[in-house]
Amino acid sequence: MESKYYVCPVCKSKSLYLKHEASYVYSYLLDSDAPGMKNTEVFSPFLYDRRKQTSSIEYVECDNCKTKFNSDLIHETLEVSNHDL
Ligand SMILES: [Zn+2]
Repeated sequence: MESKYYVCPVCKSKSLYLKHEASYVYSYLLDSDAPGMKNTEVFSPFLYDRRKQTSSIEYVECDNCKTKFNSDLIHETLEVSNHDL
């Protein structure tokens, strides 16, 4: 089977990664023991009562030259590069 690679338009590297960055606010109800209804003995950040995403961004980054591409641009660029192979 033929392998398909995406090529960085800047440095021609094949190490491209899609990156997803997100920010969340975790809430813990203050009760009689450790904060959060699911925490009793100690406070564990992953035992949250509520989680709200406040922002997120997706982009493609070249692992070699660290150039970042926004997703709209990369779709066009990757398609062109793909046809060139
Ligand atoms: Zn590159």
